[in-house]
Amino acid sequence: MTLDERARLLGLSCRDVLRAGGYTWLTDLLVSTRPARARLARWVAAGRPAPNVGDICILGERGRESALQAAARRLPAPTAWHAVRHVILLLIGREYRGICARLPALRGRNEAPFVVAIDARPDDQELQTTFAHEAAHAFLSRPAARRHGPVVTLADAQGYERVRLATPADEWSDCPEAIDQALDEWRVAALCAQWGFCGAGADVGRYAAGLQRIRALRAARRRA
Ligand SMILES: [Zn+2]
Repeated sequence: MTLDERARLLGLSCRDVLRAGGYTWLTDLLVSTRPARARLARWVAAGRPAPNVGDICILGERGRESALQAAARRLPAPTAWHAVRHVILLLIGREYRGICARLPALRGRNEAPFVVAIDARPDDQELQTTFAHEAAHAFLSRPAARRHGPVVTLADAQGYERVRLATPADEWSDCPEAIDQALDEWRVAALCAQWGFCGAGADVGRYAAGLQRIRALRAARRRA
């Protein structure tokens, strides 16, 4: 992305962008979906706030807060700001096998909250990459198709899983949902790698291979 484009998206002059260190985290990948561009615009309209990572909502296991807050500080400010306002983390795997939590009101939210479950057992690096991966999903995500008005219903939220479960495995690669999901996974892993995270959730090669496989299956079926 050029300096000019970056300045325009941030509502700043090129000189201010350079003075602030270039905002090099503002990449094409970060704003590769329309909702991500809208989320960036909301952050700009709010005065480009520095997210207070201590406000990230973490439920379940204790003791991993500082590692996750450290991961949030490594995210671009609009992604971390979005996570503080819209993402609820559920940590499980040590004391908790499952959680039934009443969801708290999040700060100044303007979207339905995202719930992210994170296995609390892996080391800090994997834990942080998993969080960055899921925060990137939240930032890029398109709203679930809303069949019942402005509220996202359980049926809306489960729509993708329903399509997947109702589709025979050998036809799954033909569904638009499969290619969308594989593309999303690749984008998210590439963003995590761009942000300096490593581990399974930032393994661009693995997700690129998954995307290639689905594309190849679809091409083969079209030829048949
Ligand atoms: Zn993912």
